[in-house]
Amino acid sequence: MKAAILKNKYELSIENVHIPEIKNDEVLVKVSFVGICGTDIEMYEKKTFFNFDFPIIIGHEWSGVIEKVGECVKDFKAGDKVVGDCHIGCGKCRTCISGYYENCDEGIIGVGCSNLWGGALREYINMPARHVYKIPEKLSLIEAAMVEPSVIASYSVDVVGICKGDIVLVTGTGAIGFFAAQYAKYCGAGKVILIGRNDIKLSLAKKMAIDETINLKTQDLFKEIGKLTNSKGVNVSIETSGNINALYDVFKLTGKFGRISIVGCYTENLTNINIGDFISKDLLIKFIGSTGGGKNFKRMLYFLSEKIIKGKELITSIYDFNDIEVAFKEKLTQTNNIKTIIQIN
Ligand SMILES: [Zn+2]
Ligand SMILES: [Zn+2]
Repeated sequence: MKAAILKNKYELSIENVHIPEIKNDEVLVKVSFVGICGTDIEMYEKKTFFNFDFPIIIGHEWSGVIEKVGECVKDFKAGDKVVGDCHIGCGKCRTCISGYYENCDEGIIGVGCSNLWGGALREYINMPARHVYKIPEKLSLIEAAMVEPSVIASYSVDVVGICKGDIVLVTGTGAIGFFAAQYAKYCGAGKVILIGRNDIKLSLAKKMAIDETINLKTQDLFKEIGKLTNSKGVNVSIETSGNINALYDVFKLTGKFGRISIVGCYTENLTNINIGDFISKDLLIKFIGSTGGGKNFKRMLYFLSEKIIKGKELITSIYDFNDIEVAFKEKLTQTNNIKTIIQIN
């Protein structure tokens, strides 16, 4: 089968490899679509905050069709359309049993992010059956490949909670930012404000019932938030951009008794933080770092299929598997791009 092998930084090519053997508790999935995540780009550039070795098969946002199932698999059969988790847990430890298998006590295995489990940029992927989910009939395979960022986004909102009427600030106009903004609105936010640097991306917000947008390049962020919050600051901030300056802004823009969810991953550390500023505002701060929320997979598949949140609108380009190198190179330079999808089969 064909697989995209990342051999070194900026060295991605398609090669022939063996179709994976499956264990008794696994399924073999013919991969249909794979979304390119910010993490994939960071791995392509070897600018990650976590360690991994080359060569590696990346890609963790995927959908596909089951080709065959292991002897012990009862809930799936060949032909089922599925998506999969981006972490593999042992399934037995206290953390896995409580649903947080992405933080398994036996060790963290990220699909396509660690060399322990190859990613989805290949024609077939093997997955333990406990880590795959059926796609609802109404949802297309391509849109189903958008579920993983929506899961992360929903988790990032759930961990801080939304009270009816909250003013919610979301920084970052990647897929996670758009999903977090939509989900916060669904959860009862009174006003959701999306912050970005690109008018083309920000203009999508209107189609998604996101109330306000601020373009950092052309507007004064602090003045605009002041106007929108009566100078009180926002109740909730969700930082998805991964830009350390956005994080400093969020600390200042969040008001008293505010809650901050930090989804971005940063290669720089925070410096010159005045803890007194946090204490005087009684802030709740959660660092989740683009992971977690596996328990939300089924729910978000349902939300996408019922259009409670919109995913298709965020797909800005689709490439054939053979053009994978072009896709990655363009992703580095195209600023209007939100989600690039690779069609594998
Ligand atoms: Zn991702
Ligand atoms: Zn475990």
